[in-house]
Amino acid sequence: MPAVNLLEFDREALTAWCAGLGEKPFRAQQLFRWIHQRGERDFTRMSDLARALRDKLASVAEVRAPTQVSEHRSADGTVKWLFDVGGGNVIETVFIPEEDRGTLCISSQAGCAVGCRFCSTGHQGFSRNLTTAEILGQLWHAEHALHGPLGLAAGERAITNVVMMGMGEPLQNYAALLPALRVMLDDHGYGLSRRRVTVSTSGMTRMIDRLREDCPVALAVSLHAATNALRDALVPLNRKHDLADLMQACHDYLARAPRDFITFEYCMLDGVNDSPEHARELIDLVHGRGGAAVAGLRVPCKINLIPFNPFPGSGLACSPRARVQDFAQQLRTAGLVTTIRKTRGDDIDAACGQLAGAVSDRTNVRVRLQRRREDPAQGVLAHRAAGAAVRAGAGE
Ligand code: SAH
Ligand code: SF4
Repeated sequence: MPAVNLLEFDREALTAWCAGLGEKPFRAQQLFRWIHQRGERDFTRMSDLARALRDKLASVAEVRAPTQVSEHRSADGTVKWLFDVGGGNVIETVFIPEEDRGTLCISSQAGCAVGCRFCSTGHQGFSRNLTTAEILGQLWHAEHALHGPLGLAAGERAITNVVMMGMGEPLQNYAALLPALRVMLDDHGYGLSRRRVTVSTSGMTRMIDRLREDCPVALAVSLHAATNALRDALVPLNRKHDLADLMQACHDYLARAPRDFITFEYCMLDGVNDSPEHARELIDLVHGRGGAAVAGLRVPCKINLIPFNPFPGSGLACSPRARVQDFAQQLRTAGLVTTIRKTRGDDIDAACGQLAGAVSDRTNVRVRLQRRREDPAQGVLAHRAAGAAVRAGAGE
């Protein structure tokens, strides 16, 4: 019988599994703390567990994170790990240190089926959902790998924040995501506050509703466009969950969210979504005005402008810096808190949207993406991007 990977379990599930071995809940709690707080995988070293239990665990269970393929450390302190999850799939995890915190960017899928136009992961196609152990294993491994080198004391944490912004659409892998989030929040696990765990989604509205009920953490929504025509072209699932639906889900989420705003991410694409008119549309949308909005429905938010990180074959370019700043200024003048994301880990290809890993594309996303590029709705985009490239060439 294959060993049971204990990284699959939140505390409740581990308690139930231990009960099957005839063990009391407090034993499960001890075991849980050894695994997640001490980073221990060797049952024989779990000194406060009875020897008989340690022997039993060693024969039926294991603590197994995905296999590390490589670790790259950037000059700015960013660390990127590649993990082999089998079947030709490699996923990526990135640690971003800042003065007052350490953020881990975790992957939720091998590839992604959403296929956003500007995203390198989307272009790779989709292979499969990660398991809870593979999601949580990234955190388990990274905390362990960073703790010693950073010279931290026992009980101190290298990772203070988690963002589900690596490869994949986390809300398309909800069943595996939920236990992983619970372990991150558990005081006997990683003890992160709900405000410090962020799920980023391209807009799976019904799943946003479920997350609100099951485990409300901070929410980031990848918006990128404030009209349905443009968002349909950039984020294909907008055709199913349009902006009105999305704004309603964001508004409703705030009733239980740990923060009193939604973060809207907006990737700045040269000549595509970065004009003063686009900024006006965005201001209108979040204030509940204009055609795409739910009339009168205001969504308290912060806007995070992400300079587009190019990748080979994207056919898109990042907006010039001055245009990003003008766009931000226009939003701020309208009263919207707006930040421009600093790009980190450039030298090791660890920036947003550059996480490509290696994915065996089992659902032919690449083929569909190619077809969509030939679709008339995409014509607008191709035309605008071509225009932008010409302008960039002219030194604008
Ligand atoms: N699937 C989720 C989370 C992973 S993507 C989502 O879409 O939200 C994490 C963030 O990186 C998203 O905001 C996404 O829009 C952004 N992103 C994707 N490709 C990018 C690129 N090439 N340059 C900059 N940001 C990008
Ligand atoms: Fe998937 Fe997010 Fe990339 Fe879109 S931006 S393809 S949802 S990972």
